[in-house]
Amino acid sequence: MKALYDLTPFTLLDFPDIPAAIFWFAGCNLRCTYCYNPDIVLGAAHIDEESALAFLTKRIGLLEGVVLSGGEATLYPNLISFCRSIKSLGYKIKLDTNAMRPDIIATLLKENLLDYVALDYKAPSSEMIRICGGGSEHRFWESFHIVQKYGIYFEVRTTFHPDLLNEAQIITMADTLKNKGYTRPFYIQLFREGVPTLGDLPSCERVVDYTLLKRYVTLRN
Ligand code: SF4
Repeated sequence: MKALYDLTPFTLLDFPDIPAAIFWFAGCNLRCTYCYNPDIVLGAAHIDEESALAFLTKRIGLLEGVVLSGGEATLYPNLISFCRSIKSLGYKIKLDTNAMRPDIIATLLKENLLDYVALDYKAPSSEMIRICGGGSEHRFWESFHIVQKYGIYFEVRTTFHPDLLNEAQIITMADTLKNKGYTRPFYIQLFREGVPTLGDLPSCERVVDYTLLKRYVTLRN
């Protein structure tokens, strides 16, 4: 079955502490205006599972992990069985997800198929349609509570474009996370200018109070 839009054979940056490959799943259930991967979100899969697993078989002993990214990996209908196959080769799995499929995340965790989860906390409810074209903050919290319950390594992150979210909203999100028992860093990924995005975004012109933000979040470029 065609699973991936693309495959990055090696990264030291995307899976904490281990060398990994990145599997880019085609398609997404959101349409974030700042999305850097319009080709993957709108494109079709053209790498099948067998080829991806053959690649991993050849890299046993060289790589230790696989990052499931995209697009949105949890939309792939055969994901559970694909993850079982990846695990049977001895790899750790990290899921990068927009958190809109808590049911799939729960199944993966129940089967002990995930070693690390990066959850996007996109925006407060009131901004989801404007920024992401859909989705819900409620589903983010469902995913959050599921991951928290299983006690595996996970992180929460938000992409920050100063014209889409302001400092007060980010601080409220950070406080809410803290009140829900989140004690790890809340990562803010700063929007990168000059790359193609799904939406038509203006350049960021507003001056941001990063000194204030740094009291509540961990900034990431
Ligand atoms: S940034 Fe948004 S649209 Fe792009 S892949 Fe992630 S969730 Fe999907």
